[in-house]
Amino acid sequence: MSRTTLAPEASYETELSAAPADVTYLTTLFVNVVMIGTPNPLATMSDWVLVDAGIPFHAARVAAFARRRFGANPPRAILLTHGHFDHVGSLRALLRRWPQTPVYAHLLELPYLTGRSAYPPPDPTVGGGLMTRTCPLFPHRAYNFRPNVMPLPADGVVPFLPEWRWIHTPGHSPGHVCYFRESDRTLIAGDAFITQKQESLIGALTRATVVHGPPTYFTPDWISARSSIETIESLQPRYAITGHGLPIANPQLAHYLHLLSTRFDQVAMPADGRYVRQPAWSDESGTVWVPPPVPDPVPKVLAAVAVAAAGFAIARAYMKRTRA
Ligand SMILES: [Zn+2]
Ligand SMILES: [Zn+2]
Repeated sequence: MSRTTLAPEASYETELSAAPADVTYLTTLFVNVVMIGTPNPLATMSDWVLVDAGIPFHAARVAAFARRRFGANPPRAILLTHGHFDHVGSLRALLRRWPQTPVYAHLLELPYLTGRSAYPPPDPTVGGGLMTRTCPLFPHRAYNFRPNVMPLPADGVVPFLPEWRWIHTPGHSPGHVCYFRESDRTLIAGDAFITQKQESLIGALTRATVVHGPPTYFTPDWISARSSIETIESLQPRYAITGHGLPIANPQLAHYLHLLSTRFDQVAMPADGRYVRQPAWSDESGTVWVPPPVPDPVPKVLAAVAVAAAGFAIARAYMKRTRA
């Protein structure tokens, strides 16, 4: 499938000029976590919020980054865009440091965060690329973050952030949300759309900016994913940090969202796949029904070699980054 590439330099320029002073992010290997709050390393009271918790084994890095920016105090809250393993991988270790910190997620995401339900299995046949081939190895079981985890307030209010509201953007997961601040139209998009080709190992690690819908192998409802893009476009965001890839700002962001919403089937949705044929069903208890798997055109032996190669490359990249 052809992808529309945006010049990465453009993202760097707009990021520098458009980034709000109180919103920053840190990349945990290939997943972004976001911190909201005015930098004040001498602060005596907590006045910041963390959005998402990154991949496993990154709690110390996230905490050290936060300490330099906000001082030693824990965040007032941890807000989740959704509960996939790459966004909550370091959450347990962070809660060991910050045991009193509440964690908020959408009501429909809670079954996967309170031990009640597993996500639908990922689909290794969509998107191509080595990351897709390794996705059966990614955890999709239920995590249990009780007693810290609780539902976001039903009225769209974001705890501790009066200027922000949460927007339900299902599709990539049932209770996926974005966080949006109207005053400067800043968006934290999670995986509703991303700015890199996450399915490709090279794309995930080199971070070339491309127009991209939600990560394909983990998206079980493409109909909802498409309408979520329309919801996001209607907000007219000016600056966005996505779950994967570099931040993006206007005018590139508006152009990017317009391409996604008008050509969703061509640029975002796989041509075929388990959840392209039929979406998975879920409710407040979690996953209710999943469609049957589709035949995998890649022979098992080739798929296994790809998984081994990808595992090796990820481990090398991880060792390199943690040593750096
Ligand atoms: Zn995700
Ligand atoms: Zn993700």
